[in-house]
Amino acid sequence: MPCDILLSGADYHHTETLLPKELRQYSESYWNKKTFAPSALLFYVGFNKKLKDVSHHTLFFDTDFDAHAKTIYDTKEWAEKPLFYASFPSITDASTAPDEKEAGIFLIPIAPDVEDTPEIREHYFKQLIDRVEKITGEDLQNNILFKESYCVKDFKDDYNSYKGNAYGLANTLTQTHVLRPKLKSKKVDNLYFCGQLTVPGPGVPPSLISGKIVSDLIIKNIA
Ligand SMILES: Cc1cc2nc3c(=O)[nH]c(=O)nc-3n(C[C@H](O)[C@H](O)[C@H](O)COP(=O)(O)OP(=O)(O)OC[C@H]3O[C@@H](n4cnc5c(N)ncnc54)[C@H](O)[C@@H]3O)c2cc1C
Repeated sequence: MPCDILLSGADYHHTETLLPKELRQYSESYWNKKTFAPSALLFYVGFNKKLKDVSHHTLFFDTDFDAHAKTIYDTKEWAEKPLFYASFPSITDASTAPDEKEAGIFLIPIAPDVEDTPEIREHYFKQLIDRVEKITGEDLQNNILFKESYCVKDFKDDYNSYKGNAYGLANTLTQTHVLRPKLKSKKVDNLYFCGQLTVPGPGVPPSLISGKIVSDLIIKNIA
């Protein structure tokens, strides 16, 4: 069957799917057995002052890495004390916050599909701010102008992301190279796939490379 209708991301509603079930290349049980990259709990925070002793990129390795990793890949639950990444873009780019203010982005890697409620998000925000305060000696709690959060539910609602994952299909040994989902549909003529679920894998550069590989494949197939 020729595939001549593709919806752009902006045009479609997430209750719709691009293909009817019988034309899909892979089944629900296929995806369910795959190892997905982590999801994330993110906070976007405006601080009412400049922060000292933090860098544009700051990794907080103040808790047990192995215990956190186990919750993402093995037990698939919230970690008690997760490690996190913090970015303060206003340290190097003045356009990202007004004078004497700081923009902060915090990211906690989590297992895909963990429970996501406002209470859970708030619990981790408080813990995160407490830990940054303790390490930096800064008063942050009383200097928050605003905050927004983003988590599993948003990844699902906004991007139709499977189990709310943030980075696509993990590159494990059995999900690498020819063992990843194929670039060309076996069921729909002239339908090709690219991006982080295919070859070579997650990340912006690999997703762009997959587009290049697919374009070469299309040119080869129509030549
Ligand atoms: C917080 C975060 C930080 C990251 N940091 C980095 C980084 O520093 N460096 C890096 O290299 N990578 C990073 N990544 C990963 C990178 O963003 C992704 O690997 C890359 O954007 C994947 O591109 P893609 O085109 O495959 O998928 P996406 O960019 O997810 O695009 C898929 C599109 O398809 C749409 N869609 C879904 N279902 C349907 C449907 N049924 N019909 C129509 N449209 C549909 C979605 O809405 C979406 O717009 C990060 C990701 C996150 C979430």
